[in-house]
Amino acid sequence: PVVLSQAKFVHRDSLKYPFEERGLQFGDGIYEVIRIYHGKYYLLMEHVERLYQSAEAIKLNLPYPKHELIELLDDLLQRNNMTENGKVYLQVTRGSAPRDHVFPQNVTANIYAYISKQERPLEQLKHGVCVITERDIRWEKCYIKSLNLLPNVLAKQTANEKGCYEAILHKDGLVTECSSSNVYLVKNGQIYTHPITENILHGCVRMAVERFSSELNIPFIEKAFTLDDIKTADEMFLTSSTSEVLPIVKVDNIQIADGKPGPISKRLQAAYEKDALIQIET
Ligand code: PLP
Repeated sequence: PVVLSQAKFVHRDSLKYPFEERGLQFGDGIYEVIRIYHGKYYLLMEHVERLYQSAEAIKLNLPYPKHELIELLDDLLQRNNMTENGKVYLQVTRGSAPRDHVFPQNVTANIYAYISKQERPLEQLKHGVCVITERDIRWEKCYIKSLNLLPNVLAKQTANEKGCYEAILHKDGLVTECSSSNVYLVKNGQIYTHPITENILHGCVRMAVERFSSELNIPFIEKAFTLDDIKTADEMFLTSSTSEVLPIVKVDNIQIADGKPGPISKRLQAAYEKDALIQIET
């Protein structure tokens, strides 16, 4: 069959992207981004667990058990002779089938993963970043790492257009997370962040930060803070697999405390580096 592609009529089989693919047509799929340091995955089990939880939440059958997926991911590192810092993007969709909202019968999931180089954001880790605030207009199941990222994309684009790194999302003034990271506020030596509910993604670095806080005897309080609280914060930071523990020094053009990364953020950064076995660069 002939199809229309970029204003040209071509044979359907000549298309460079899948024709009827549920990830493309419905965002009917899930993904993970896993950090690689010196050719090794960091927090691999946490990511794999989350992938299977996302799959279950959308009733998607993954074609192999966890240990096989881990073997394949390790193989991917080796086949690419990966010894540097990078990340793997892993995507699973419900499969390819004629377009219909109802799940197709007898299709297998489409899985692909690729590795790319990614250096640590050293300058930003050192000096902190500025962010904006945006209304959280996403759906009610943000704990699923789904391919439907349009609200996240739009929020991050707005941040980018304003010269900022991220967008803090809020529901009626209560802060949930950022467009592609979790967010924290420090007040009187205590860390505050949104509790693990269906309204945020349960970040793997968030799990690690909770562990570091306990090891360092820093109270980790899972209670949502408000936009108002930000005005009097002692420190703020965000976390993700690519951003690590990243200090926030300005929100909507207003400086946080003295405008420099705070002591608790720095202690957590050091704990992260120790845990991820990455040298503390000078
Ligand atoms: N929240 C959202 C919406 C994300 O997209 C991400 C990661 O991409 C995170 C939080 C952080 O998750 P992780 O620490 O597992 O990278």
